[in-house]
Amino acid sequence: MNARQNKITIYRGSHQIGGCATEISTGKHRIIIDFGANLPDNDNEDVMTDEELTETVFGGRPCDGVLFTHYHGDHIGLYKKVPQNVPLYIGSTAKKILEILTEKIDSIPNMAEEGLPRIKNMECYSPGHKMIFGDIGITPFFVDHSALDAYMFLLEVGGKKILFTGDFREHGIVGRNDRLERMVQKYIGEVDILISEGTMLSRTKETNKNPIQTEDDLGNRARELFQENKESVILVSSTNLDSIMKFYHAVPWGMDFVCDAYQAKLMLAAMADKGNYHEYRREFIHGKPRRLYIIGDMEGLGAEQNCCRADFSILKNKGFTMLVRENKQVFKAIMEKYMTDPLVIYSKWIGYLKGKHANAKIGDFIGSHRMEILHTSGHAYVETIEKLIRLTNPKTIIPMHTECADAFGEIAEFAPYRDRITVLQDKEEYSF
Ligand SMILES: [Zn+2]
Repeated sequence: MNARQNKITIYRGSHQIGGCATEISTGKHRIIIDFGANLPDNDNEDVMTDEELTETVFGGRPCDGVLFTHYHGDHIGLYKKVPQNVPLYIGSTAKKILEILTEKIDSIPNMAEEGLPRIKNMECYSPGHKMIFGDIGITPFFVDHSALDAYMFLLEVGGKKILFTGDFREHGIVGRNDRLERMVQKYIGEVDILISEGTMLSRTKETNKNPIQTEDDLGNRARELFQENKESVILVSSTNLDSIMKFYHAVPWGMDFVCDAYQAKLMLAAMADKGNYHEYRREFIHGKPRRLYIIGDMEGLGAEQNCCRADFSILKNKGFTMLVRENKQVFKAIMEKYMTDPLVIYSKWIGYLKGKHANAKIGDFIGSHRMEILHTSGHAYVETIEKLIRLTNPKTIIPMHTECADAFGEIAEFAPYRDRITVLQDKEEYSF
């Protein structure tokens, strides 16, 4: 076999955050890792459009499968464009979450094409179990990220080991107790090539200023805020389940937790699968489980799921927090009708509040309400990436999912590894 036939190609994502698609090919077989949409505020004109990307990746060439690392749109968003004869793979909890999410999206009037049938057809990989695609072996490993049920992939191709990180971190629920380090030491070891995300490399200033470094920090501060504020709303991504479960457990007993049926279904799916993590268990006090109070249509939820309809004449007396989304009028209407002076807890990336990525809908939603920012990143800090490099001792490091690929070697923590860094351009083939 000619080893040089083995190639890595980052079609998109070598120099930007999101919109990624990476190919591993051997001449006989090829697989694609992630097939993501560009982030909505992407103004990078040098990268391929979604149409160009689809044509370049799939145009007339067979493909053994597309493996998604996790359910974020910038990694999975173009799944409908993958040819029907190419199988799609994802984690099993991630698939359930996608089903709930896609059902919601499909119900929006004038949606061009339903997504749910394709999602339901996705195959599930399981952590630690190697899959074989001809001469390519892939083992998924469960990692911490702001999307629940995210994975790194260990690829074995032509006697070489490649670790593809996807999005990851170690300061959330799953990453606690040095889980990343233990996992890498036990199951992965040293690798030839490390393909690592580097989202936070352009955000080190904001990281250093943020008093909330971990999901534990977030939960602790949330507990204080709920005690000080009888009424609050939380602007958080509906699928950022680590933070949502931290908020859920931080509500003092006697106060209540309110959300809509869609959000409750996402939480229930996460709780059903990830109960081996304490935060993903239902909260009980004196044998009584905490209820989820549902606004709007119950969508089939009821006592069996420990859900009941929100009655604000009662909730108002007890005090409550409510998970909200800026694009849903119903939340704003409830705030105006039933809440006197709610605290807005802002739990998304601060870049959406001001500057070039500012989101006007979020600004409108917050208006003149009192606000506290309570958010931790979904991505690895510099020291976590450095730790992964140290543990895997790769001969070659390829950065991606970052705005700082070219400056990767200039980061002080990475200085000892500077000569191992290879920066690829989109579509450039890297032979190994
Ligand atoms: Zn992600």
